[in-house]
Amino acid sequence: TEVSNVEGNSSVQVAIRVRPFNSKEEKRDCLQLYNNTDENIQRTSDPYGKTSDPNDTLDTEHIEKFKTIHVGEDENKHTFTFDQVFPSTTQQQDVYSHCVIPLVESCLEGYNASILAYGQTGSGKTHTILGDVDSDQNLSPEQSISSENEGIIPRSLRGLFQGLRTKQRMNTTSGGNSASNKELPASPTSKQTPFEYSVKISFIEIYGDEIRDLLDNPELDDDLSSSVASRQLKRSLTTSELGVSRRSLTRRGSSMKKKISIRDGKAGEGAEVLGAEKIEISSAEEAMLHVRKGLRRRVTGATAMNAHSSRSHAIFTILVHQTMRKGNSAKNHAVEMKTSKLHFVDLCGSESAKRAHTYGKRLREGIDINVGLLALGNVISALGKQSGPQSHVPYRDSKLTRILKGSLGGNHKTLMIACISPSYSNESETMSTLRYANRAKNI
Ligand code: ADP
Ligand code: MG
Repeated sequence: TEVSNVEGNSSVQVAIRVRPFNSKEEKRDCLQLYNNTDENIQRTSDPYGKTSDPNDTLDTEHIEKFKTIHVGEDENKHTFTFDQVFPSTTQQQDVYSHCVIPLVESCLEGYNASILAYGQTGSGKTHTILGDVDSDQNLSPEQSISSENEGIIPRSLRGLFQGLRTKQRMNTTSGGNSASNKELPASPTSKQTPFEYSVKISFIEIYGDEIRDLLDNPELDDDLSSSVASRQLKRSLTTSELGVSRRSLTRRGSSMKKKISIRDGKAGEGAEVLGAEKIEISSAEEAMLHVRKGLRRRVTGATAMNAHSSRSHAIFTILVHQTMRKGNSAKNHAVEMKTSKLHFVDLCGSESAKRAHTYGKRLREGIDINVGLLALGNVISALGKQSGPQSHVPYRDSKLTRILKGSLGGNHKTLMIACISPSYSNESETMSTLRYANRAKNI
């Protein structure tokens, strides 16, 4: 039996999210979820949503109380306690409001934060971080995820913009000298507003040892067009049938490959990703258009999607820049600036760590992935144990942790959401996910 300590390292929060059974799974579960606050600890009557009785779905208030999870039976039963355990009936909005809002708020205050989704392929990482994304190539980027299904990224974007606009409104009304409401500037960039902000996004993935830009990367476009071109040429089709001119293909094919590299930042800061796009956005919707385009660059085809995402870490970052002019008079130029980052990481499938163990050095790709997940586990665990500034936190051990450095620990909040399947058939993967998540909490 394992019991973890939930006190102490408050900058790292660990939540578990159980997804519902899928249609292929035998409805036999290996989990028991416990409500920690009732006098007699009680198992939820229907934690997996097996019945359709609406009385059995947990309301928001009840969800909060689930913190303990049992895996396995009898002498093989293991007990873990986390900051939060989300039963499979949990709605996307509940995940956001219970765990994510504090991170969005601290980002508005100028601190960095990271949200990491960990778990085996198919456990619900992408569903949690992004929402259900239809990988159908024919979908236009304008077709958005249904609002109920939206994951943490679109909700956080909206929360951030809401917070920034509120700040601006408050500062505009209280900061003006004699301006009445109707004279107030409407534009966020108006010079008369003491509070100004800008929001940028970046979206990269770490695939093996390589970093790729998912925002407007001509290299990936080349991959797409050249594979189309070679297929088409084999079939001896004319270039007009490709829908693109040969000249444009050649130009794109020979364009300079965009080099993405990382350079470690100043002490306490994360590495800078050099060469990756940072796109300024003015709304959550605009950002989501870029995300959807980026996802389509990530891979082509629905089946490739899972295979690819199981091997790569996707990092979506929101950069918030806020400036506040102090005082009302034009003579007063004191300016307070705040820059903060909010990282959302859809980690590679946790099963790849095990695969690398099993096959050793033969699977180079597996080893690289293992490095990222392993280093992340070590970093988070070291942050939990940290007793003084002299403690060694092994950020340098992987690209993933180098990039996240400066957004983990200290005043910077970290949320790890470990996603698991309820099914008995996934018991051993679930067990290793809970062990990994537990290490992040062990102090
Ligand atoms: P991962 O990214 O970890 O490989 P996905 O997020 O793609 O897993 O989830 C696999 C499948 O399970 C998807 O079809 C997704 O819609 C579904 N799913 C995952 N979590 C949930 C959930 N909490 N509620 C409903 N469906 C879910
Ligand atoms: Mg995924």
